[in-house]
Amino acid sequence: MITAIYPGSFDPITNGHIDVAQRASRLFSKLIIGVYDTPYKHLLFTIKERVEMARQAVAHLSNVKVQPFNGLAVNFAKKVKAQVMVRGLRVSADFEREFDMAMMNRKLNPELELICLIAKPKYQFLSSSLLKEVARLGGDIDDLVPKHVIQALSKKEGTSKM
Ligand code: ADP
Repeated sequence: MITAIYPGSFDPITNGHIDVAQRASRLFSKLIIGVYDTPYKHLLFTIKERVEMARQAVAHLSNVKVQPFNGLAVNFAKKVKAQVMVRGLRVSADFEREFDMAMMNRKLNPELELICLIAKPKYQFLSSSLLKEVARLGGDIDDLVPKHVIQALSKKEGTSKM
């Protein structure tokens, strides 16, 4: 039985993240989406909101759970007894970043394996930050995030789109 974590900021969760979670849920007995409490970047949503949006987004996947975490992802993996960390790769810049992080994580926890899933072409350009920008400017994000995330963005940003 293999447990995997899928850590990230998920500010907010997008269809690209959900696709990775769905594909990973078929590979492992249990997948825990770890929502990082305090990433070193500007956040739109609180930890509670990010966790709640992620929970709703993967409610249909019975072996996928969502938990907030603080501190190092490798320590979160130890805490939930995960053997694998899942990350998504969109473009080559993601690879560079993931490679550096993987080297550091291996030093911190050599037992933890990293599995990277390549994003589907339709989500390759999709990032939470770009999504927030488009939503703020009133662009169409209907096929990029679930309905409840569109509603949360509208509420936050005061945009009229529902
Ligand atoms: P982080 O702050 O850790 O990068 P993100 O929430 O931005 O957190 O992303 C979490 C993980 O999901 C990362 O591995 C990222 O590369 C991946 N990811 C982000 N967007 C997509 C997407 N559209 N398709 C596939 N993977 C994605």
